[in-house]
Amino acid sequence: MIEILIASHNQHKIKELRKILDHSEIKLISLLDINEKDDVLEDGETFFENALIKAKYFANKHHVTTISDDSGLIVDALDGRPGIYSARYSGNGDYENNLKILNELENIENRRAHFVCEIVLCYPNGVYKSFSGEVHGYIANEIKGDHGFGYDTIFYVPEYQKTFGELDDDIKNRISHRANALKLLKERIDEIINHK
Ligand code: IMP
Repeated sequence: MIEILIASHNQHKIKELRKILDHSEIKLISLLDINEKDDVLEDGETFFENALIKAKYFANKHHVTTISDDSGLIVDALDGRPGIYSARYSGNGDYENNLKILNELENIENRRAHFVCEIVLCYPNGVYKSFSGEVHGYIANEIKGDHGFGYDTIFYVPEYQKTFGELDDDIKNRISHRANALKLLKERIDEIINHK
């Protein structure tokens, strides 16, 4: 049995990670469970650097194996923005972030976009493993759906002809960038549980 701390305060992310990482040999706890309120300054230049900063900080502080994820939206026609600035793109929360992207893409034909997720699992001794996942789609013409968080309501998945905001959580949890990164982590779960 291994205890793993999820280095997030985001209820949606914690829920997604719990569902995907459900395993009898893993006891998952989150920052909310241990009443940890520290917000780590994510001043890295990449998703990977930011995920590593967070995972190392909490693994070191609580002497527990820690998983952190850093993720965001990359929009092709916006030269990759909002990227690592996804959470604070408008400075005014998720809804305004979505409106900002829709405004910036007004009359722009190329609406290709993808989500990226970097997951870092860091042992208390600082040794870490990292995993990346992506999911590709398009920016919708308008906000649709009410599931999820962040840019879910404007991220259109052609395979399902729906936005993430309209899709059932179970489907999103199968195909998302986070799910794809976690699939790679799960492939090495025995190694992780046995601290190899
Ligand atoms: P982080 O919490 O620093 O990783 O910031 C990630 C930001 O990227 C979130 O606040 C969202 O704006 C966006 N994001 C990441 N993953 C998702 C997702 O699954 N759906 C929608 N937005 C996401």
